[in-house]
Amino acid sequence: MTPPAHPTLLIDRFGRTVDYLRISITDRCDFRCVYCMAEDMTFLPRAQVLTLEEIHTLAIAFAELGVKKIRVTGGEPLVRKGALELLENIGRIDSLNELVITTNGSQLETMATALKAAGVKRINISLDTLDADKFKAITRTGDLQQVLRGIHAAKSVDFERIKINAVILKDRNHQEVGDLVQYAVDNGLDISFIEEMPLGVVSRHDRSDAYYSSDLIKNDLAHNFSLVATLEKTGGPSNYFKVTGTQTRVGFISPHSDNFCGSCNRVRLTVEGRLLLCLGNEHSVDLKAVLRAHPGDMAMLKQTIIDAMQIKPEKHEFNIHEQPVILRYMSMTGG
Ligand code: SAM
Ligand code: SF4
Repeated sequence: MTPPAHPTLLIDRFGRTVDYLRISITDRCDFRCVYCMAEDMTFLPRAQVLTLEEIHTLAIAFAELGVKKIRVTGGEPLVRKGALELLENIGRIDSLNELVITTNGSQLETMATALKAAGVKRINISLDTLDADKFKAITRTGDLQQVLRGIHAAKSVDFERIKINAVILKDRNHQEVGDLVQYAVDNGLDISFIEEMPLGVVSRHDRSDAYYSSDLIKNDLAHNFSLVATLEKTGGPSNYFKVTGTQTRVGFISPHSDNFCGSCNRVRLTVEGRLLLCLGNEHSVDLKAVLRAHPGDMAMLKQTIIDAMQIKPEKHEFNIHEQPVILRYMSMTGG
């Protein structure tokens, strides 16, 4: 059956079409990565968090407005009870081309098969280091072996693509970029390196000191790998290079050194139901309030989303050398 074609109705003041939605389905996580969370996080009370049904309704509304790709993320999406059913429901929305998730990998050993069955096509797994002690230091509570087993399980169920995401921090894991690329090559995976973004106040970690640019990473990799620039995009902000002689692509997400806002095609739904028009600004619209004040009124919900495009900012305002102006953590935002 041919899926219904929905017109692209989400266009902002700068002529950018929004066809990609990232949804944070929980602010909770079994890890406490140093760049993402404070050590002692307070999580949201249940009443403030969207229900799974509300998230599903919102996904349908966005798809009917022309969104073609949904990424489910968090927090750690796979620790939310009912996450699989939600993914199955979103996976059944005909007009979506792609349902993808971002995970820390801790639950994949047991959930990879079910995720594939639910319709998840591509999966991003965060892995910043292959050294067990460093992994513990960066994630505070994570277990490297558990994540490596999870990656292995994901490989065995044949997702279209598996990509490793690594946030690179100077003097913590910058020495490992070559090992991480070699791991990706050996396992037939892609990998993206991410410059840290100043979201939320994180303790015991100076973001300015930890900054390690994509250009530095490229220089480091040039010692051992031949990287050829490609024009390939996967609908996100990564710029890709092919590792010569392999299937692996190396991406760079460089909010500081290479602003990607001109081609921004995405918005984010926070776990509290706030539609966030830009990762690096606070412009948002409260969709939970609309849903709860007007249950079942799809027309009003969709019009609110269309109108929200008018406040999508031109670009992010990140500055790692200043105290964060964005007090929301990545885990609430839907990274
Ligand atoms: N828990 C899942 C995970 O870690 O993959 C999904 C949510 S996590 C917030 C999504 C991505 O955001 C991860 O790849 C993580 O490394 C990245 N991230 C978190 N905080 C960040 C920050 N301050 N700057 C850049 N990337 C960050
Ligand atoms: Fe959890 Fe992912 Fe944030 Fe790490 S980056 S604390 S795994 S949400």
